[in-house]
Amino acid sequence: MNPKKQLLLIEDERNICNFIMTTLKSNDYKVSYALNAQTGLSLAASQCPDLILLDLGLPDMDGIDVIKKIRSWSNLPIIVISARTQEKEKVEALDAGADDYITKPFGTSELMARIRTALRRTASGSGSQSPQNRYTAGSLVIDYEKHIITIDGEIVHFTQIEYKILTFLSQNAGRVITYDSLISHVWGPFADSNNRILRVNMANIRRKLENNPADPHYIFTEIGIGYRMIDNENQ
Ligand code: CA
Repeated sequence: MNPKKQLLLIEDERNICNFIMTTLKSNDYKVSYALNAQTGLSLAASQCPDLILLDLGLPDMDGIDVIKKIRSWSNLPIIVISARTQEKEKVEALDAGADDYITKPFGTSELMARIRTALRRTASGSGSQSPQNRYTAGSLVIDYEKHIITIDGEIVHFTQIEYKILTFLSQNAGRVITYDSLISHVWGPFADSNNRILRVNMANIRRKLENNPADPHYIFTEIGIGYRMIDNENQ
């Protein structure tokens, strides 16, 4: 049995805090909490948790600034918990370095799935394991070494741009990737690219990838925010 993962919850609403604490403990996580940003930041520094769950609306500091402060010294996964439904704030949080977000009210199983995905990212990125050389989901296989993508064992041809998009999304499978971060990864940070070109490429990818592009199975659109690719079954 692996040692229990240490989680830190920064949330100012006691009811929600209690609910999440109970849920996490019953799922075998160790968890500490802070009711404001200052306490949260000092606990983050002293405990070095495996993951932080962060409410964006805190009494003493904007959650976006909390993310930036943590990112100035640590790469540990941060999942934003927010009552805010505005897409702009979710994008802001992701671009500031959050790994994922979950909107209140949320279900227990959704929260647990997001935590597992975020923890897996650090486990595979820590260098203790060899990097994944393939992605598998359903009948789709991406072989990063051979640069080959197959569906049901048949090679499917993608343009270089499409391959770059697929590689980036699949290597971040389970996480939402914002339009901007995808564009700057594929076309470079100074590229004069935009969402329209990305959408055209995504439409082409889906036509090759999905049985029914209108009801995607592999790559999901998070409207106004970005894309999320289905989890890698190899992990
Ligand atoms: Ca709050």
